[in-house]
Amino acid sequence: MKRYIVIHHSATPDGTVHRDFDSLRRGHLSRGFRDIGYHWVIEYVDGVLAAIPGRAEWESGAHCIGRNVDGIGVCVIGNFEYEYPSEGLYRFVADLCRQIMTRHTIVEIGGHRDYDATKCPGKNFDLTYLRKLIREGSYVEKAPCSIDIGGKIFPGYLKGGRSYFGDGVAVVDVVRAITPIATWNEKNLTVKIDLGGNK
Ligand SMILES: [Zn+2]
Repeated sequence: MKRYIVIHHSATPDGTVHRDFDSLRRGHLSRGFRDIGYHWVIEYVDGVLAAIPGRAEWESGAHCIGRNVDGIGVCVIGNFEYEYPSEGLYRFVADLCRQIMTRHTIVEIGGHRDYDATKCPGKNFDLTYLRKLIREGSYVEKAPCSIDIGGKIFPGYLKGGRSYFGDGVAVVDVVRAITPIATWNEKNLTVKIDLGGNK
């Protein structure tokens, strides 16, 4: 039973290698771990924040003495003893925590330092603020976007890293836009399949 989410930092700056996840895993394997010790690693990959899965959530981790069995370890790449997490990073971590909370009955979200004698995840990582974001769900912000299906533009919005159709978009119009239509050209003796051509 997972009851805790334990936030860590890598204590290394992001971006020194392409995927810090891979170097973390190599480091943990070289210490005799059977896999990376964390359940999730959050880092920028090609300039985009990503949550990379490590161990399966139901497995025991190797990240925090005393919380390895009942805690889900989330490592944020960066050194927050010196750097400050951006607003976007806080919201991304909060988003992941809320997703985890839909799968497990989490009673507490803490930093590694709450459970062990360590500075992890760094003095600048504000866990009170993270908990506030998780509680308030304020990471949920809609940003408008366009959805182009075969040249037909539908209004949409972005939320939590996914796109959705906007209000007033009729299902029938979307289905028509994505339904292939076959036509027979008598002159060329050709069957033509148009994608999204069923206007
Ligand atoms: Zn830690």
